Amino acid sequence: MTPSRRDFLKIAGVSALTIMTPAIFIPAWAKDGVVIPPGQDLAPKKALAARRWAMAVDLTKCTVNCTDCIVACHAVHNVPDFGNPKDEIKWIWTEPFASVFPGESHAYSGKKPRNLRPPVLCNHCENPPCVRVCPTRATFQRTDGIVMMDYHRCIGCRLCMAACPYGARSMNYRDARPFIAKINPDFPTRTKGVVEKCNFCEERLAKGTLPACVLACRQKALTFGDVDDPRSEIRRLLETRFSLRRRTHLGVGPQIYYLL
Ligand code: SF4
Repeated sequence: MTPSRRDFLKIAGVSALTIMTPAIFIPAWAKDGVVIPPGQDLAPKKALAARRWAMAVDLTKCTVNCTDCIVACHAVHNVPDFGNPKDEIKWIWTEPFASVFPGESHAYSGKKPRNLRPPVLCNHCENPPCVRVCPTRATFQRTDGIVMMDYHRCIGCRLCMAACPYGARSMNYRDARPFIAKINPDFPTRTKGVVEKCNFCEERLAKGTLPACVLACRQKALTFGDVDDPRSEIRRLLETRFSLRRRTHLGVGPQIYYLL
């Protein structure tokens, strides 16, 4: 059945209200003790640019049970907490080392790798299968490698979720707004029926600020930068340290590097 003009206006009105959020924002990380260094947060500066953004996660610095990166990311991006795993929306989360790197885990692994829970997120793949299958081009790749979501174009078909080999995408099966602790007016909330995921903090890069997870990490375990720039810190780390990427045999070219 074709929606009537009245139905269309109703949907458009709800979407517009969803984006126009209240102006009061108390950052959730302040409450949770996660520190973003002063002067490095949202003051407008020249946009950060790269030929190819990527992230390195230093697993020798990551501490078990630390959630600094998750708390900061989910606070700035209005990620709801529904309190149950069935409806869970996640942009960055942790998983046991054996799940993240099944091929690198064995019965005789030392205690350290067995206890690790690496943070996992969208890999902003070089050849993203999610982009290939999206029928409305709601998900697309920028020239700097960031795999984006246009929430207004998403029809909730979930083909991208099926295509992603990393489970990096979440579907909003419910209205998220009542489940967001403190709404950040600088980022849109999403409606029921829309898929979402990590965006490498593209809205912060545009303001000259590094991703929230990178700044929030008290262990300084996350390095974000241009892997195409031979003088960048991330390139130095990748050239001098041993690193792993997830499921490289699939040929999607993940751009999250785990340093060991
Ligand atoms: Fe797409 Fe998944 Fe790759 Fe992210 S990790 S770019 S969602 S296929």
